[in-house]
Amino acid sequence: MTKIGVIGGGIIGLSTAYYLTQAGHHVTILEKGDLQTGCSLGNAGMIVPSHFIPLAAPGMISKGIRWMFNSNSPFYVKPRLSAELLRWGYLFYKHANKTHVDAAIPALKELSFFSKAMYQQLAKTLPFDFGYHERGLLMLYQSAEIEKEELETAEIANHYGVEARVLSAEQVQELEPDVRVNARGGVYFPGDAHLTPQDLVSRMIAYLKSKGVTIRTDCEVIDFKIQNNQIQSVNTNLGTYAFDEIVLATGSWSGSVARQ
Ligand SMILES: Cc1cc2nc3c(=O)[nH]c(=O)nc-3n(C[C@H](O)[C@H](O)[C@H](O)COP(=O)(O)OP(=O)(O)OC[C@H]3O[C@@H](n4cnc5c(N)ncnc54)[C@H](O)[C@@H]3O)c2cc1C
Repeated sequence: MTKIGVIGGGIIGLSTAYYLTQAGHHVTILEKGDLQTGCSLGNAGMIVPSHFIPLAAPGMISKGIRWMFNSNSPFYVKPRLSAELLRWGYLFYKHANKTHVDAAIPALKELSFFSKAMYQQLAKTLPFDFGYHERGLLMLYQSAEIEKEELETAEIANHYGVEARVLSAEQVQELEPDVRVNARGGVYFPGDAHLTPQDLVSRMIAYLKSKGVTIRTDCEVIDFKIQNNQIQSVNTNLGTYAFDEIVLATGSWSGSVARQ
């Protein structure tokens, strides 16, 4: 039995622990927080093959800059003087072009389909419910400008095999008879799904514990003892741990943790 340390207890760390335990390994998760907050719990739970166009796309620079400074927008970034934020902004700007978008679409599409297939499988095999439903996604628009953007997206989606149905205002209303829809029209992506992240994460933690996974919370990985290019042990604020293998699943912290 291999002793595996998973650093980070977000959805990637928890899923990794699940599959490794299924494969018969002994897993310990080291998590610096308390697993009660974070984006794996607080996200929108959308499984969206429809979102196959990367955010860094032509037209996003001007929109992105407007959104970044609007705290009500879906893309708000708290303004601060940070070298990392400036670097990220520069890379975003550099990649927001047609060549990059065309190269990224097939990979994002495959990743989304694969992710959905895995959630389908988890919904069938896990002994708890996490609110997985396949009811699609409806993108509504009220202006001619956004309608044009959404219709273009629908056309590209159908071209790449992601089903998209363009609906009139009346068809949208028929689809949602219980609410009064104030929209010019919409695009319906029947292949999208959603789940309840809070249920998935909290129930997965309980399930993993019942299967013998050790979860150390408030345990921050500070650095690694490295010998002959191999990690010998992991230093944390709670002491030192040694594993046969280590998985880094620290989300947006991965770069800084890996540099240790
Ligand atoms: C508002 C919002 C809405 C979103 N909606 C969606 C959606 O609808 N659909 C979708 O697919 N995605 C969505 N996302 C993205 C999704 O939530 C993330 O991609 C996903 O949760 C990332 O999971 P992760 O496990 O990689 O990272 P995280 O959940 O960030 O987990 C990383 C963990 O590593 C821990 N960690 C970091 N450093 C250390 C260290 N040194 N030692 C120990 N532990 C450490 C952190 O505390 C954290 O718990 C959304 C994100 C946000 C913010």
